[in-house]
Order: sequence, then structure tokens, then C-alpha cells
Amino acid sequence: MKIIVLTSWLILSVSIAFSNAYMPLKDTELESIASQFPPLEYLNPLDDGGLLQPFLIVRIPGTENSTKVQNHVNDFFIKQISQGQNSSSSEIPMWKVTHDSFQDSTPIGDNITFTNICVSRDPELAINEGDKARTRKRLTLAAHYDSKLYPEGFIGAIDSAVPCAILMYVAKVIDKALTRKQAFLNENGVGNENNQLGLQILFLDGEEAFHEWTSTDSIYGARHLAARMENEDIENVDGLIGSGLSSIDTFVLLDLLGAANPRIPSYFSETHDLYNSMRSIQKRGRNIKGLFQHKRRESNFFSSPSVSENVHFLGGTLGDDHTPFWQRGVPVLHLIPNKFPPQWHHLTDDVDHLDLRTVHDWAIIIAAFTAEYLELTNFILDQ
Ligand SMILES: [Zn+2]
Repeated sequence: MKIIVLTSWLILSVSIAFSNAYMPLKDTELESIASQFPPLEYLNPLDDGGLLQPFLIVRIPGTENSTKVQNHVNDFFIKQISQGQNSSSSEIPMWKVTHDSFQDSTPIGDNITFTNICVSRDPELAINEGDKARTRKRLTLAAHYDSKLYPEGFIGAIDSAVPCAILMYVAKVIDKALTRKQAFLNENGVGNENNQLGLQILFLDGEEAFHEWTSTDSIYGARHLAARMENEDIENVDGLIGSGLSSIDTFVLLDLLGAANPRIPSYFSETHDLYNSMRSIQKRGRNIKGLFQHKRRESNFFSSPSVSENVHFLGGTLGDDHTPFWQRGVPVLHLIPNKFPPQWHHLTDDVDHLDLRTVHDWAIIIAAFTAEYLELTNFILDQ
């Protein structure tokens, strides 16, 4: 649920300097994502052992169904994802899952429980042994897992079951590559700032309003987490103390993905380069056999350079989970179609109205983008 915010906020964008260098994957590596991890084998909406199907239930905050979805995410990151990799013997840090639970007042009750699920995987510093406890910069990927109270029976397939499942797919794709990269760094002692980038995946609760979208009836989880992180003191790799928010290199928010014919504009000037990098993945990938299901230029998910380079960046006009982070100076890449799909907030936002070819291509694009951001070139191929 989103609204256009009519006031034009004058917000000083205290953008935090990027520490990422960003390294494109080779064509063979891009191709290997689709061949090693066929997206629709993981994201089949009818497969109860898959990543997507367990999200496709009504999942109101504080309910039993919400707990079921939380368990699905926990089990995946704690038990399933790294099966076959012995993390204790290799001493390579794996995935960490923490729950950020709290209660808030809502139009339907005063003590509704919300739970953000925060997943992370950080590299161990290959240099400066003593620095292990320090927090690194992280690429943060986020989507909301709650569903809307009304209309009754609403399961929000694109809002945001598919985005959540895609984030789990991304973790699966890069999991072994992260292990391979860490093993390489441990052996070779090669360390630089970019090798210290970690990944955080946020499954946010309470994005939807219970009644009408207002500043207090919406984005409950994101507001709570952004405020909490702002008040955390952490020691960064450079030894300086900063707020927890300073560890977020970029906040990438996925919302309303999985319907046919998406078109995402570039919302924020400070992440326009990253937007272009993502667009370039779709453009390059179109020439790689078997990578994408949409092959025609007309099915671009991103605005063409001629449009986007003259774009009036729309960031700040759309209320969503990024808002409390962006208002505190965190750089945001917002992946939401400018024109919301027709099923938005209708009961038709269901399995039948998903476009699986589009789900497939989004999964590849986001996985490749994450691998490029974390500089997993040379580690993606299973060799
Ligand atoms: Zn919604």
C-alpha cells in the first residue's frame, strides 16, 4: 500500500559515501545463474517445498499464519541454504537470523505484535585480525512479508510474497560463492575495503495499513527498525563510531514485483548509477542464450537511458518501507513499478495473476546485481 505524498519534503540528503566498487559478472557467470539455479524450480508458486508457496497465505501481523511464514524464512536460512557445507570445520561465517519483535498501537488494537526478520552474512576480515567484532558495510535488500487485512482473503502475491521469495532465491544463488570468496581471502590474505562488504536481507512486517494509509498506520516494521538502528552505536571498519544505519551501504527495496510488464523508473539520483548497472544486466543478458524469458527490447523492466537520464527523480513522492531509512540519509534503490499493476490491493493479486516469465527474469536480475555488488566475479561458477 502506497500513497503519493503531496508535500514536497526538503530533506537534506546526507548520503553516505558508497564503499562499493561493483564488478560486473562475465557472460558465462550470468549464464550459470540460470543453469545452476533455474528460478522457477525455486519459485514455483504451487510447490509447497519451494521458496514462494509458503508465503501465499493471509499473513496479518501477530497471527499464527505470520509465525508460519517466519518459520519458513528461519528454516531456510538456518537449516536448508547451506546444506552440504560444513561451516564449523571451515570456520567461515554463515547466515545469521535475528528477530526484531515489538508491539505497537494500530487501528485494530493497541498491542499488536510485529516481527521484522533480519538476516545477514558478513565476511570475516581477511586483514586486521583484531577487527573481527567491527561492523562492516552491508548491502541491504528488503521486502515486506505481511499481507493486507482487507479485502478479506487477500494474499498479496506481488505484494510482496514474490519479492520475499526472490530475496531467498538470491541468497541461495550467492551462498556458495560467498563461501568460496571467503576461503580464497583466508588463504591469500587479500583484503581491501570491498572485501568487507556484507549482505543484509530484511523481511519487514507491518508495511500495510490496517485501515487507511497514514504516517502512523503503515510501515510499522520499517519505522521501528530504522529508529532502532539510528540509536545503535557501532564501530565501523574504519574505527569510527557511527549509528547502525551507517552500516547500510545501499538500501534496495523490492515491492509489487511479479506482474507482467513492469516498468521501474530511477527514483533517486544518488543511486542512479546502480539503477543503470541493474538495467545493464537485463540488456547484456538478453544476448545470452537461455538466461531470460523476455528477450525483446520492448519488455525492458527499466527506463531507457534517454528517458531516465532526463528523469525527474521521483524519490520521496512514494511512501514505502524505505521512507524512514531514506529520511535518515540512507541511499535507496527502490524497485517498484511506477504504474502499479492492475491487481494491486485487489483479490486478484493471486497466483493466477502472476507472470512467471517476469518472476523468472526478476530473480536473475536481482541475483546478478547482488553478486556484482558483492564482487563475486570469479566465485560464482561451481568449479
Ligand atoms: Zn500493499
